[in-house]
Amino acid sequence: MGLLRKVKGQDRAELLLGSVLTSGRLAHGYLFAGPEGVGKLTTALELAAAMVCTEAEDYCGECRNCRRVFSFDHPDVRITIPSRRSVGEEEIADIFRRRVGDGVTPLRVPGNAYIGIDQIRELEQRLSLKAFEAAWHVEILLDCHRMRIEAANALLKTLEEPPDNTLLVLTTTTVSSLLPTIRSRIHLIRFNRLPRELVREEVRERLEIDEALLDRLVAASDGSVGRALRLAEEGATHRAAVLKTLRALEECEGAVGVLDLVKSLVRELKKSGCLEFIGELRSLVHDQRRLLMDAEPLSFSRKDLRRWEVSDDVLEELEHQLLVCERRMWRNVTPGLAMSVPMIGMWEALSRKPTAVTDER
Ligand SMILES: [Zn+2]
Repeated sequence: MGLLRKVKGQDRAELLLGSVLTSGRLAHGYLFAGPEGVGKLTTALELAAAMVCTEAEDYCGECRNCRRVFSFDHPDVRITIPSRRSVGEEEIADIFRRRVGDGVTPLRVPGNAYIGIDQIRELEQRLSLKAFEAAWHVEILLDCHRMRIEAANALLKTLEEPPDNTLLVLTTTTVSSLLPTIRSRIHLIRFNRLPRELVREEVRERLEIDEALLDRLVAASDGSVGRALRLAEEGATHRAAVLKTLRALEECEGAVGVLDLVKSLVRELKKSGCLEFIGELRSLVHDQRRLLMDAEPLSFSRKDLRRWEVSDDVLEELEHQLLVCERRMWRNVTPGLAMSVPMIGMWEALSRKPTAVTDER
């Protein structure tokens, strides 16, 4: 059995790591480079499991050691992620917990985060002690293109004279943004984008979604399972926000109420959220047009949609207004201003008493 059982489509990485494991000629440091969401972290964990598993040549995946590695809970397998000074340990632990729970949450602190010198000092401190349980220390550093210069210089010292039985795995999406001195001291292993069919299989295995949505996710995934899963999750969040807003619009008594609703949306979503929200709203209107033509909706599920008692002309005009709204926001018109026109149009369309689609079927 090969080393990579949880990662598919990375034959080159598998071949290289498999051969160093069987030959016992493991280097002290590896750099896993490639797009996000193609298996770099999982490969690092599989390699780490192979170092600490006591049950199998490579790893068994079932013993206590293996299980703790894959739930980020092994004392000798540590992961460092870019962070910010103001972010506490508990917040970081929470990010890891969510990742273990859903398998999707990016191991990333929101905002402008970097691997700082404090984090490298902590790593050095850990390496200076005897490993707790395993014969090996494995340190995994994620997104090393986000490492401060002084941190990189400190790490360089560790890479030059690594303590025995230490394995460092660095990951990055951009090799060129690492210090050349670091690059020259670790072995580069490249990860590639995944073929569409593989992304499709992997997403289908993890999520229950209809084929039309799956098509769109795969098309937007850019060869990354992680990206497809993240888009699926974000899409679900935004679709829920759109449906909630529609219900609120139905309750609005007049245009002033609509404008108040827009104001609270802008407060809640911030600018980038507003853009995605409007994009999702456009998908909804498009789905409404498809319903009028008796075609299957593409983004929303049939049970969430109601047939609006308006003509296709009205929906077409709405779709156009939403497109104009998006363009305006891109050109830095404030979201509140840009969103007012299509939202009032939406309210007018909705106030013609909608009936549930599913009732008619
Ligand atoms: Zn094991």
